[in-house]
Amino acid sequence: MKITFLGAAGEVTGSQHLIETDNLRLLLDCGLFQGHRRESRVKNMEFHCHPKDLDGVILSHAHIDHCGNLPGLYRAGFKGTIFCTDATADIASFMLLDAAHIQEEDAKYLNRKKRGKDLIEPLYTTEDAEDVLRQFQPLQFNEWHELATDVRVRFLPAGHILGSAITELEIREGSLWKRIVFTGDLGRYKMPLLVDPYPVENGDVLIIESTYGNRVHPPVADMKDDLLRIISDTALRGGRVIIPAFSLGRTQQVIYHLNELFNENKLPRIPVYVDSPLSTRCTEVHRRYQEHLDEDVNKTLRHDVDIFSFETLHYTESPQQSMELNDKSGPFVVISASGMCESGRVLHHLKHAISNERNTIIMIGYQAPGTLGARIAEKQPFVRIHDAEYAVKAHVELLGGLSAHADVNDFKTWLEQSTEHGDFGRAFIVHGEKDGATGLASMLKEFVDGEVTIPQRFESFKV
Ligand SMILES: [Zn+2]
Repeated sequence: MKITFLGAAGEVTGSQHLIETDNLRLLLDCGLFQGHRRESRVKNMEFHCHPKDLDGVILSHAHIDHCGNLPGLYRAGFKGTIFCTDATADIASFMLLDAAHIQEEDAKYLNRKKRGKDLIEPLYTTEDAEDVLRQFQPLQFNEWHELATDVRVRFLPAGHILGSAITELEIREGSLWKRIVFTGDLGRYKMPLLVDPYPVENGDVLIIESTYGNRVHPPVADMKDDLLRIISDTALRGGRVIIPAFSLGRTQQVIYHLNELFNENKLPRIPVYVDSPLSTRCTEVHRRYQEHLDEDVNKTLRHDVDIFSFETLHYTESPQQSMELNDKSGPFVVISASGMCESGRVLHHLKHAISNERNTIIMIGYQAPGTLGARIAEKQPFVRIHDAEYAVKAHVELLGGLSAHADVNDFKTWLEQSTEHGDFGRAFIVHGEKDGATGLASMLKEFVDGEVTIPQRFESFKV
């Protein structure tokens, strides 16, 4: 058997690993490379896995850096099946359409500058996304599924986002079964909503992510208490609270905590709006798969049938409803995307709120350098939104410690639990920059009998 690393090798985007035997070719993930525009476009256009000859793709979860180039793979001739969990298939169905729309808009924008010469095509279109979605085959968690003769797969919860899976893949070569474990993105222990990562029972080959393989996250901020304090204070001032939040994951964590506060009769009786069509869809999926969520959620469900709904919570739909909030008087809360304030409806809410000292903006989690979110989090005196400058007079509150990726302690716990009955045979470290990968490599020696490798892109290994 041969494994070739085609993406997320020495970096954190473009997850894609090829597994080949004499009669089988499977791709683990087919993520989009992100980052520098021109460089990424080239990497995303060229496939090195012969898409036409692939038997299938196993998809770990629905983040774009893991599934975002599936429509491109389809465009390049892939006609096989995509195996993933039911929730992942559901989330991917609108994430990929959203991504296709972005690709189309991006091509239009670039072509406008070219004045008819050397026009570029979008990486893929809405049609490609719609077509590839027909090739999805959702599978249940925690059960073995035969993909072909002598090939079986089982998905275990990875605790990273809803539907995210650790893949256990077993393939027979001759008389020998080989067992490959692919972590996908590994989540953290004791996070709101999500179950803890499930341990595996070792394996011959471990392919493991390493985003924070050298770091210990700060303690998880007590988001619920912080939200209550900030919303109560702002309501007393008669101001509004703007919460820029990622549509998938973060938005649901915020709604869940507010729902709890409402049930406990602590939340001020002011309207709360979720104002992002994508966030609303992501919340619907969480509602549909409530059984995948953690024990605390299941406890709440015994007395509250819907953890994403309470009397003062409203999901806006039309742009009209969204704009009406701009002129609304009295205190209220808006949860809107995007999380780093780069686009989306949140920009309008910020424009109307940021220069008034009665209001509060809550920035949650990591803000990439250069984004509007980072500038607000740094509390710069002025920020540019669309084409105008705005004085930052609103209160800015930072809630940290909410990364969805395992840190050193989480990796250690998962590795200890997964090697109770023996170590892994050998390991490949992917999905990390140099420091994360080398940090994890030194920890892995304790849990792996054979070699621990940090592969370069395009490197192949016989296993
Ligand atoms: Zn992810």
